[in-house]
Amino acid sequence: MEANGGDKMSHQDFGHKSLLQSDDLYQYILETSVYPREPESMKELREVTAKHPWSVMATSADGGQFLNMLLKLINAKNTMEIGVYTGYSLLAAALAIPHDGKILAMDINREDYELGLPVIEKAGVAHKIEFKEGPALPVLDEMLKDEKNYGSLDFIFVDADKNNYINYHKRLIDLVKIGGVIGYDNTLWGGSVAAPPDAPLKKYIMDSRDFVLELNKALAADPRIEICMLPIGDGVTLCRRIK
Ligand code: SAH
Ligand code: CA
Repeated sequence: MEANGGDKMSHQDFGHKSLLQSDDLYQYILETSVYPREPESMKELREVTAKHPWSVMATSADGGQFLNMLLKLINAKNTMEIGVYTGYSLLAAALAIPHDGKILAMDINREDYELGLPVIEKAGVAHKIEFKEGPALPVLDEMLKDEKNYGSLDFIFVDADKNNYINYHKRLIDLVKIGGVIGYDNTLWGGSVAAPPDAPLKKYIMDSRDFVLELNKALAADPRIEICMLPIGDGVTLCRRIK
């Protein structure tokens, strides 16, 4: 401990350099920088979603704030979201893109989307959203039949069935423009990607863990993209297409 000036605890003591070492620190972020700046509509949608039995699936408030800023930073206009649920990440994106921006949003479940839709409408951004009910993969295949869709998207957020992420990536890489961004959500999969083999994991975590591990390996090895894995929410991997 002498080397760092006699601090009782240094980052090294934790064996990693992640900043997020406690629930208190996470609460601090939320209470200091996220909740006070969260748009009223997003707060309302978060509260509507909290009453739903699968509300753990929704993007966290800090994750929503991150997406909102990212889309503004890259000037995203033509975008896509795969996996909408009640629409929290969708609203974060819809608030970020310009008035004439577009989000093609897909989910197999329209009911959940309709739970959040009144809040999205009230926020005045519903006109930017085209919702398609049904599995996303056939929609992507259909889009790939038309040359004008190639390289047409500024941003894509993927937050649906983990077993299909690799299949999505194979298609999305042609739909996103060079310099555009694909964000894959849940790439740390509850921390299970680094869990010891005998760790007791929930069934839904076990069921998709191998798919997430495979995806992370494939993204790291893909020369068409630059990547950045962020420990925000359940892990978000940003992929910037470079060729
Ligand atoms: N992005 C949302 C959370 C999405 S949860 C948020 O941040 O709040 C994952 C969603 O993926 C669920 O709503 C589920 O219905 C949807 N989904 C599952 N399989 C799908 C598929 N094949 N195509 C499109 N959506 C799918
Ligand atoms: Ca997610």
